Amino acid sequence: MLQLVEHFYSIQGEGKYMGVPSLFFRFGGCNLTCTGFGCHERAPSGTEVIGCDTAYAVDRKAFGELWQEIEELQTLIWIMNGYRLPPHVDVVLTGGEPLIYANEPIFVEFIEHLIAQGHRITFETNATIAPDFAKYPFYKEAVYALSVKLSNSGEPYDKRVRFEVLDAIITNTNGSFFKFTVDEPSLMSHIEAEIDEIIAHYPLTPVYCMPLGGDKSHIEANCEAVIEFCKRRGFIYSDRLHIRIWDQNHGV
Ligand code: SF4
Repeated sequence: MLQLVEHFYSIQGEGKYMGVPSLFFRFGGCNLTCTGFGCHERAPSGTEVIGCDTAYAVDRKAFGELWQEIEELQTLIWIMNGYRLPPHVDVVLTGGEPLIYANEPIFVEFIEHLIAQGHRITFETNATIAPDFAKYPFYKEAVYALSVKLSNSGEPYDKRVRFEVLDAIITNTNGSFFKFTVDEPSLMSHIEAEIDEIIAHYPLTPVYCMPLGGDKSHIEANCEAVIEFCKRRGFIYSDRLHIRIWDQNHGV
């Protein structure tokens, strides 16, 4: 059973395909919590939840009543048909962590269907779960935005850095890329060394860095430091257009 938090047709706001019209499906649930990001979100009950900038797609206890259970593939196809989409539009599967569903039959069918229909799929993933590429080879056709969490996430190292997962995804796919979320204070400390340790294993995989922040003011406060970091290191700066334009992460 899948948990769908929201779906919307917009432009991709960050990473390699920034600006590309994309249909987003945000699935609920994550194997991490990333409380270190310190973003605040008010749950329907009125409780203040602290987590990442998509805490509403992570914390089922606090936000689960807003999630929709998907019991069959047809529901997802029906949702897609409800939009007036150009042919072969990009589809972004995000979360939470979408790959917690990588072996769920409906999810597997959905991926197979999207690939067969000629859609480019991007998984926005924390890169701690690899699909079973041998059993479901069509997962190799997708692009993986590898948002490996750094120590500023507050997660323990062994949980957030999984080289066997990165190896599996990077060796089985074309076009996948790293996407790190950083802020000025973390760049002043140990974050650069953390990024280096990860990317050293994958010299051919592009590195995008974007500013930490769940709202416009935070993005603006962090972006210049991230741009300077990218200039110095030869990384690719990614803005977060959806937050900068709409000042939020929800459904835009
Ligand atoms: S891995 Fe991503 S979605 Fe999951 S808690 Fe961390 S930032 Fe949020």
